Amino acid sequence: MAQRYVRVQNQNGQIYYGLLQPSLKVLVLDAPPWLQGQPTDLSLEPDSYKILAPCAPSKIVAVGKNYVDHAAEMGTEVPSEPLIFLKPPTSIIAAIEEIHYPQQSQRVDYEGELALVIGDHTSNCSPEEAQTKIWGYTIANDVTARDLQQRDGQWTRAKGFDTFCPLGPWIVRELSPGARLQTFLNELSDPVQSALVDQMVFPPDFLVSYISRVMTLLPGDVVLTGTPFGVGPLQPGDRVLVEIEGIGRLENTVTAC
Ligand code: MG
Repeated sequence: MAQRYVRVQNQNGQIYYGLLQPSLKVLVLDAPPWLQGQPTDLSLEPDSYKILAPCAPSKIVAVGKNYVDHAAEMGTEVPSEPLIFLKPPTSIIAAIEEIHYPQQSQRVDYEGELALVIGDHTSNCSPEEAQTKIWGYTIANDVTARDLQQRDGQWTRAKGFDTFCPLGPWIVRELSPGARLQTFLNELSDPVQSALVDQMVFPPDFLVSYISRVMTLLPGDVVLTGTPFGVGPLQPGDRVLVEIEGIGRLENTVTAC
């Protein structure tokens, strides 16, 4: 099993980066691993911490319509260059936490996505340089109030509600190019989304390079790489699970607020 890098909070409220062991103990690091955090003598027992989102980014840069079939289901062409937008860091929740269905919307969709975690100060990079700035990979759900996205014409409100960015549960360093991304709803055994991450139009190194020519990415920042075909609505009470081969499973439930 790949090394799993986590961020956790102990019962006194202290937050640590660490390595999740097969026993579910966490070996605590003295800094975020992308800032050369090293193992300490401290370890946390499985029942003594809660898992947080695996990083605390200054920003989340997301990419729209980056799979051909998804662009088609939205009734549009694939953009000729990446279509980027921001989600606020306050939209992040961890695995198991609840997505709050806002009263302003009547249509909230899941969007399972591969997330890139940036490990270094990243500005004006070529794709080759950008690849070296991608420290690791995790899973995201780019939850979207579809009706508000269409009504507003820009996406800040639709994509920006608190709890609209489930992220985690951990980071791995390597990802197979042919890894499959799948999204499952409730007890359904068939996925509602299923695609290989290498089916994306603009690949990770290109995306990070492109973004880095607009804004500086900082260590711990997150890039969401777009969702494949099969987006659909969530209802209060639903359970949504996004799985990426080689990373794990990100599961959240939906509650009315
Ligand atoms: Mg998306």
